[in-house]
Amino acid sequence: MAALGENYRMQRLGKNLGGYFGETLEVHVLLRDLKAAALAHGWSYELVYKIGDLEIFAFRRKATQPAARRVYISTGIHGDEPAGPLAALQMLQANDWPAQFEYWLCPCLNPTGFFLNSRENEDRKDLNRDYRNTESGEVAAHIRWLERQPHFDAAFCLHEDWESHGFYLYELNPDQLPSLAAKMVGAVTPVCPIDMSPMIEGREALGGIINPSLDPSDRPLWPEAFWLLQNKTRLVYTLEAPSDFPLDGRVKALVAAMKAALNQLV
Ligand SMILES: [Zn+2]
Repeated sequence: MAALGENYRMQRLGKNLGGYFGETLEVHVLLRDLKAAALAHGWSYELVYKIGDLEIFAFRRKATQPAARRVYISTGIHGDEPAGPLAALQMLQANDWPAQFEYWLCPCLNPTGFFLNSRENEDRKDLNRDYRNTESGEVAAHIRWLERQPHFDAAFCLHEDWESHGFYLYELNPDQLPSLAAKMVGAVTPVCPIDMSPMIEGREALGGIINPSLDPSDRPLWPEAFWLLQNKTRLVYTLEAPSDFPLDGRVKALVAAMKAALNQLV
């Protein structure tokens, strides 16, 4: 009941009108803490790209079993969405990962965006629209890194949306694999409101779940999720925390959704 009460107290702040004006991150501290937490718990570290003194890095955690399934998680591609990297940090620090998977984690794909508190990178480019005819150094380096990795059983991209009335997610699952979506939404419900709108971002939604019927080849601008679907996995989730709500609850929402997804994938 305590968790439910917390949910009822979690109200829209109403201060994010026309953009995100909530809490921000000190990106140098974030990157230092992410790296420290990963290395402290046995993840390997790889530098993907560097802009000045800001690094994009990838972590990898080997499985304790052979033939483990492979999970990819990324976040921090929009610099005005702090809950994703903070959820990654919290998960790294808690070190409570189901051992039967091998993990790849890119915890902050747009460090200059976080430095500027902007969705885009320092060149005003939305990196999450740059995965087709790629122009940015960040995404070009990320794709080069991804191409060296194996196929993933599932991929998760953690985001935030300042317009939404609660948590929601997109599921790209063209082969009708067992869906993780309902379990994720169910796990978020005690810690954060769910956006129950019938239309979210111009797409039909049901109980906070959007199954976009789309063919990425028809789209000129690809988000990371499309590239992953076309090249690395057949199951991609984009998780959206509601950034007009308090930051703590948004981080809890993303962590709860990821835990539920990994437990369901077992
Ligand atoms: Zn985003």
